[in-house]
Amino acid sequence: MESHKEVVERLRGAFRSGVTLPAHFRLTQLKAMLLMLEDNEAQILEALHQDLAKPKFEAVLSEIEIVVNDLCLTISNLHTWMQPSYVDKNLATKLDDCFVRREPFGVVLIIGAWNYPLQLILLPLIGAIAAGNCAVLKPSEISKSTEKLISELIPKYLSKDCYAVVCGGPEETKSLLENRFDHIFYTGSQNVARCILQAAAVHLTPVTLELGGKCPCLIHGRIDMKAAAKRLVWAKFFNLGQSCVAPDYVLCTAETREALLPFIKEALEIFYGSEPEKSEDLGRIVTDRHWNRLVELLNKSKGKVAIGGESDRDKKYIAPTVVVDVQESDALMQEEIFGPILPILTIKSLEKGIDFINEREKPLALYVFSDESQIVTTVLERTSSGGFCSNDGIVHMSLPGLPFGGVGASGMGSYHGRWGFETFSHKRGCMLRGWGLERINVLRYPPYKDSNLSWLRWATTTKKKGWTECTIM
Ligand code: NAD
Repeated sequence: MESHKEVVERLRGAFRSGVTLPAHFRLTQLKAMLLMLEDNEAQILEALHQDLAKPKFEAVLSEIEIVVNDLCLTISNLHTWMQPSYVDKNLATKLDDCFVRREPFGVVLIIGAWNYPLQLILLPLIGAIAAGNCAVLKPSEISKSTEKLISELIPKYLSKDCYAVVCGGPEETKSLLENRFDHIFYTGSQNVARCILQAAAVHLTPVTLELGGKCPCLIHGRIDMKAAAKRLVWAKFFNLGQSCVAPDYVLCTAETREALLPFIKEALEIFYGSEPEKSEDLGRIVTDRHWNRLVELLNKSKGKVAIGGESDRDKKYIAPTVVVDVQESDALMQEEIFGPILPILTIKSLEKGIDFINEREKPLALYVFSDESQIVTTVLERTSSGGFCSNDGIVHMSLPGLPFGGVGASGMGSYHGRWGFETFSHKRGCMLRGWGLERINVLRYPPYKDSNLSWLRWATTTKKKGWTECTIM
């Protein structure tokens, strides 16, 4: 079996041969990925069912269609994205060609997490291929069936010279990271991200980190409670709460909470029936270890279980659970929940809610539910988060035109659609000069003269366009 070093060297050889550079090659690979998804939908759904008991509906939307959409957008636009972008010039560079060229980094490493095990490997891979890179893929070892399927399908459909899958857990990943990559794209927890950054520092490798954290859902002002409850319940319990962008906790006034709870109860019953453990529309917790962590969190919480709370270790099941009277110091508020438990915290005012959010790490997503647009705008303008969505949850990440990524502790860099292409491209600033305008050029040569400096300042000045409205006092 090839060592990690041999895999990386083989891919580097392919990259240096220039095979990935033509648009035609990239498009062929992207179309092959599309075919891979079409040909193997049943196997993909089966693997996701084995790993997470993912309902078909959720798997199709969040693991297949999201990738297909991104592929279609990328295939349709790749020629345009690959064009150089020309920049503004000054008098001194008037005759030059000044442009930004998007170039591939080389051999990149993509490390995925288990909660959307296919999507989190394939979506970054689209960006990597589109930008002309070779790629090593390291799916999560926790979602075993999908890991195995990815390792079988990628070499079958994509160029074996340019793309490779390495399986295994932390030890294999650490050994893989000893090699020099030209970019590392990591999806997973904040703790492991620190190891990734340290390994990348050895080779000064640029890194994209797609991490998690606690995504708040602030509900305030006038609102259609019934619709709000439905959207909140769907976003929270999709994939049984194991989504990096799931609403982690709700912030609202005590009156809003009282009005909302019956509608949450109603929505849960409509969605999953009176015995949710029998519903085929709820997934399962990925492993016993993750189940234990969640049940322990619930046991440690000093809040009051208002809805749900039941669990079954053998079935890795935890009921959709809502906990009220949760304080800031509660166990549920100390880490990302990443499961079907929704704490509701009460705030006295919108101001307090904004302060609560701003006192914590910047979240991957921030949700505001309100009929009052002024409230939505206020929260948008006064907070920071990776993404933002009003009156819904999760859905903003399905639109490939929007960049997806974190800020601060929730990550660095972004992808999806063109943003993925940009992430995996080096932006090379190019100036192609001829021998013209030598009269202006000689101004910069020694012996230096004050008169030449004045001319040069004039010739290289950027025009102050559109400055009238911000006059300096
Ligand atoms: P995980 O355990 O599957 O780990 C992610 C990857 O890191 C895996 O491929 C794993 O093999 C590797 N890994 C684990 N330990 C390692 C180590 N010590 N050294 C090197 N590599 C190691 O997934 P996870 O970390 O439990 O993922 C859950 C987290 O990911 C949550 O915080 C979630 O919010 C976040 N997440 C973020 C996004 C996003 O797009 N921003 C998407 C999904 C999940």
